[in-house]
Amino acid sequence: MRALGLLAVVLCGGGCARETFPAAAPQAGHAPGSLHAFAAPPPGAVPLSAQPHYAALAAPPMAGVVAPAALPPPPMSRPDVPQLSSSEIPSGDACLAELARTSVTHHRLEAKRGITTPVEVTGKIGGIHFGSPLVADCRFVLALHRVAPVMADLGVSAVRFSGAYSYRMSRVGRLSLHAYGLALDVHEIRFGTAWHSVEREFSRGLADGCAPTSPPMNQLACRLKATRLFKELLTPDYDSDHANHLHLAIAPTDAPKWEAVPKKRPAAPVKLELPPPAPDEGEPTVEPEEPPPPRLEPKTAKTKPKAKPKATKPAKHRPRAHRPRPLAS
Ligand SMILES: [Zn+2]
Repeated sequence: MRALGLLAVVLCGGGCARETFPAAAPQAGHAPGSLHAFAAPPPGAVPLSAQPHYAALAAPPMAGVVAPAALPPPPMSRPDVPQLSSSEIPSGDACLAELARTSVTHHRLEAKRGITTPVEVTGKIGGIHFGSPLVADCRFVLALHRVAPVMADLGVSAVRFSGAYSYRMSRVGRLSLHAYGLALDVHEIRFGTAWHSVEREFSRGLADGCAPTSPPMNQLACRLKATRLFKELLTPDYDSDHANHLHLAIAPTDAPKWEAVPKKRPAAPVKLELPPPAPDEGEPTVEPEEPPPPRLEPKTAKTKPKAKPKATKPAKHRPRAHRPRPLAS
């Protein structure tokens, strides 16, 4: 049995690691007959112990059949970037407190429709000038602050963008993440002292944008994507709508109240509020997340005599169908 096991290892190599071997089904990726001959050795087969080399057991190539080449996977660049998660970026006061501990010059804004914690940045973020004013959710500013070192590693010193916060729907009638202040459309980037245009200097269709030989714009997009911080990172490779900019957006962790509870009868010009979230073509927006559902705490739930009649009412209004999806990033 030990010899048989060793034989399987020799014949399969690394390519068999994920496969199982039913007795009857042929296995793709193996030399014809090798495994099946192994599974059902022909009568009179030479004992393994008598073989001078295990390699001699490999089945000879059949005429007209090209054995699959054991090609190694194409070498892809693995950028040395931190693994980040937008779900770890706090919101509200906690976000403001963290932002205050950075060197980002900013101030809090009055309520902005759609933004949970609106701020305006008037200085650099992590040493990178993003232009001003940059109005966004505090969480998005922190997100930019966290990836600033990744950008700086490529020599990025400044960014020009066309839009950040914008309360708007996407083409198919869904709120864009720009409406939450969680997105940015970047058109030009300064690497060192030279400005680079996304439209002109992003090479489309590159297999390995992170490769050192790729254009800086591709390397930047690839590295930012590798951090996994952004829920949406759309480049000119995505579609024609993004032919001239990089769309960066993080997932929301909480949504404004007006979004969480749909109005029964919306008033007059509520074009933006009426349509429920729907799939988006241009920018694959994320389903806006809502405040967490009421906790199921058996102890406190039972010992809450006051909330008897009212406890059930709010539950009815909570749109369970729109529960937040787990963040992929
Ligand atoms: Zn965008």
